[in-house]
Amino acid sequence: MNQRYVTGCIYGLALGDAWGRITEFVKYEDITPDMLILPPFLQVTDDTQMSLYALAATRELLNEHPDWVQSLPDTRSANQIRCFYADQFLGYFHDPDNTFDRAPGRTVIGALRAWDLLRKAPNRENLPELTGLEGAQGSGSKGCGTIMRSPWMGLLNIDEGALVTLAILQSQTTHDHPYADWAAAAAALLVRRIMAAHGGAPQGDLFTQEWWSEAGYEAGVDALELGRPYYLDFTPELEAELLKFLAAGANEIQDPQAYDRYLNNDISQALGQGWIAEECYRTAWVAAGLYGGNPEQALRVLVNTTGDSDSLAAVGGAFVGAAYGLDELLPQILGTFEPRYEKTLSNFTI
Ligand SMILES: [Mg+2]
Repeated sequence: MNQRYVTGCIYGLALGDAWGRITEFVKYEDITPDMLILPPFLQVTDDTQMSLYALAATRELLNEHPDWVQSLPDTRSANQIRCFYADQFLGYFHDPDNTFDRAPGRTVIGALRAWDLLRKAPNRENLPELTGLEGAQGSGSKGCGTIMRSPWMGLLNIDEGALVTLAILQSQTTHDHPYADWAAAAAALLVRRIMAAHGGAPQGDLFTQEWWSEAGYEAGVDALELGRPYYLDFTPELEAELLKFLAAGANEIQDPQAYDRYLNNDISQALGQGWIAEECYRTAWVAAGLYGGNPEQALRVLVNTTGDSDSLAAVGGAFVGAAYGLDELLPQILGTFEPRYEKTLSNFTI
């Protein structure tokens, strides 16, 4: 992987998260011009925190238990992998920096609290073997907590099938809807394809609107196909609806009027507010496709929304950062994150 774009993806997500934090719970009409200026001091939220945990967990999993990944789609391996992720996410649950002002998602916290209790249950050895689904089961949630933490997984050097699978399995530890799992897989796969594109073609106008339109759509379709053995309850109706939803995003990127449309309008109103996972994917992807050549503009359009601004901008930031690198993103953000995260982000290599 080209380190310049790895760094871009890492900082792009963290920047989008920290900038979008300012407008996360502010309606479009109440957003003031000062909120749309790059903040001088960047405080991350649960999006960056969980991304760090998800990436660390995936790396550790690949190092310590490659046999589990190789034995997939064996059910026992899938269960072991989910339990591993759920246990690693307890690190986030108990992290002293997981504070209310970072607006941690209710679905994630609820699922991890349930998992924590289950892990501490007396006579654990007499209970049935865990699947890793227990914390989330029954919530029916497709909140964007699954996708906001998955883009960096696309930076890891594993094949696309394994990438999609792990993105789905990590999602299932906290959420309980196939769209939540799918969105996590699609975002990781799109990052992977952006990174792969750097290898094959000259730079410059590589990432055209047409490229983004097709790549985002195909990542969505392929995440569906590659992950088929792992999705739970994906009905033909849900699948058909999703393909229509994706096609509308692809068309929007190729609409010649769309660029101007969202410069002074709320993109989340038209494409989806992003509190739910599939909308988070589509709105972030469309903004990257329309404004990616100017990453700051792409982020500002996502920050300037009624929707879940920090998650939209985090995911969109990962996409444009991976495509254009830190130099074109906003290199002046280096050194402006709070110390703990500045240190972690700057030490990042794949
Ligand atoms: Mg957040």
